[in-house]
Amino acid sequence: MSRRILAFLGGALVLTVSACDRTEPVAPGAAVVERSPMSAQSVDPGLAALLAVNEQLAARGLSIRAEAIEFFTIGEGRPSNRIHQQEFRWVPGDPRRLAQGDDITYLVDRSDGATASGLKSAQTEAAIDAGLLTWDDSEPLKTVDVVKLADRGADPDIFDSFFGFGRFGNPFLADIVNAGWLPRAFFEAVGGPGGGRGILAFSVTFIFTDDDGVPTDINGDNYLDTALNEVYYNDTFGDRRDDRAGNPWGINVVLPGIDVETVALHENGHSLELGHFGPPPAAVLNPVYAGLRHVPLAPDLAGMNAIWSSWPNP
Ligand SMILES: [Zn+2]
Repeated sequence: MSRRILAFLGGALVLTVSACDRTEPVAPGAAVVERSPMSAQSVDPGLAALLAVNEQLAARGLSIRAEAIEFFTIGEGRPSNRIHQQEFRWVPGDPRRLAQGDDITYLVDRSDGATASGLKSAQTEAAIDAGLLTWDDSEPLKTVDVVKLADRGADPDIFDSFFGFGRFGNPFLADIVNAGWLPRAFFEAVGGPGGGRGILAFSVTFIFTDDDGVPTDINGDNYLDTALNEVYYNDTFGDRRDDRAGNPWGINVVLPGIDVETVALHENGHSLELGHFGPPPAAVLNPVYAGLRHVPLAPDLAGMNAIWSSWPNP
């Protein structure tokens, strides 16, 4: 065998190993099931997005990684994606995210709050506030204060920057950032083919790592430590130039309109670490939009209770 062929085989081996590294952390079954057996190369788009972002975070020497992404859709559902099987939780008083004691803080980015469907930033902000207040007032979160922080004008989000739709902002201005309404192309880039017209909004959660990129559990609760969460809304809905003009974002609207508070309640449910389930049963956290829904249902509350009843104790 010539030296050239050996070198080639060596290269192929390295490629194979790195391909294994990339696919190994695929934990949850949903993503794997959705993948076509014909194309070994086709990593689920949401997972590919997380991995691409994490390569850049590692290259920058930052001690956070994108951990989970969940898509809220109209029509067909999309699998959620996670890097690790182990779940994540906010850590009370975590100094790394500048935690405000035991509170969970949120911020609404006003700069991207207006919609192509004609809503003003103040309208979408009020609807998002209403969604968060619903969770804050719910029985499972009675020992948690979900506190709003003012948008002081600084860029409060980072995930959009990795896809060319914004700058790398300050990720620690609040625990949860409702980052506003972004172009259809952003959702196509993150969600893959069809994402631009199918994804209403998504939630992305980052976790903390040590200097070597290994996830931390500083309070020993057997959960990875949540660093931040960002929520993005798709502005194609109600844009007259697009094929989703017939499903405009609105306030307290029924289908075919898309109700901002309903989507905000759903998305910020993820921000408060509740995952998708059903249907059945019917729930705010069903993965596909089912019309106006402003009140958490029993399964939502049971899920939240499991997460938050022991707060602020590990
Ligand atoms: Zn969702």
